[in-house]
Amino acid sequence: MKIIVAKNSGFCYGVKRALRLARETAKNKQSKIYTWGELIHNPEVINELKNQGIRVANSPSELKVGDTVIIRSHGVSPDIYRILKKKKVKLVDATCPIVKKIQQTVEKLSRQSGEIVIVGNPKHPEIQGLLGYSRHKALVVENESQAKSLPYQKKRMVLAQSTQDGQLFSQIVAALVERTGELRVYNTICESTRIRQEATTELARQVDVLIIVGGRNSSNTNKLYQISRRLLPRTYFVESPEEITPEMIRGATRIGLSGGASTPPEVIKNTVIAINNSCQQNSPQEKMTND
Ligand code: SF4
Repeated sequence: MKIIVAKNSGFCYGVKRALRLARETAKNKQSKIYTWGELIHNPEVINELKNQGIRVANSPSELKVGDTVIIRSHGVSPDIYRILKKKKVKLVDATCPIVKKIQQTVEKLSRQSGEIVIVGNPKHPEIQGLLGYSRHKALVVENESQAKSLPYQKKRMVLAQSTQDGQLFSQIVAALVERTGELRVYNTICESTRIRQEATTELARQVDVLIIVGGRNSSNTNKLYQISRRLLPRTYFVESPEEITPEMIRGATRIGLSGGASTPPEVIKNTVIAINNSCQQNSPQEKMTND
């Protein structure tokens, strides 16, 4: 029995940076500290931040003059910056520099002619922010059938949420080519996401069961699940190691594990332990090895 952890599982550069900024802010605490929405999609990390005095604000009415507000790695729209400025709060901007670049691209495109199409989840905070930078002119497309229902346009510019599934993005681009005179494609899927998706795809081809661990509302973790599920029906999505059951891995000789960009290293470590324990329950004599 072998457990293989996908390369690049766990926190990405943008999430690590946002967490470092939040912890540094908590250390030099001079006022009440809030994150604008949950800093990352992980309940344990949110609890840890709460213990350090960092709370989550979801509305301007929760803030007072002089409070500190941390902008998470997903970024926010220019409207939110304006609201926070009016509130006279101190800002710690933890927007991932890669997301900042995408925002700048969208802002530049919004001054040009042609329809902007963003491939992503319209409810995701990164997309909400990008919509603001497009001056609310961009169209958000979530799947191939939505792209196929679009009318012909003379000119379009298409880009992706940073954590988008590369295969889905390609399918949507292909659908748009048929419906657009001039199509400009900006592949804004970030490198870390691309590497993580490739590693998970590779792993799904090598194992009998693949477990994806991460927050249920984490966009990139959900994408990893969909990618693996296409290749391997025995793919499971768990939020915590406690959800691993012996049935999930019964009869498997090679078990894969992959975590999203917001999955803490301890959760990955504990999931390996939980898989080991479940293996023991299935076949107590079996010797296990971890990669
Ligand atoms: S997934 Fe990529 S773009 Fe998004 S926060 Fe992480 S490093 Fe930045």
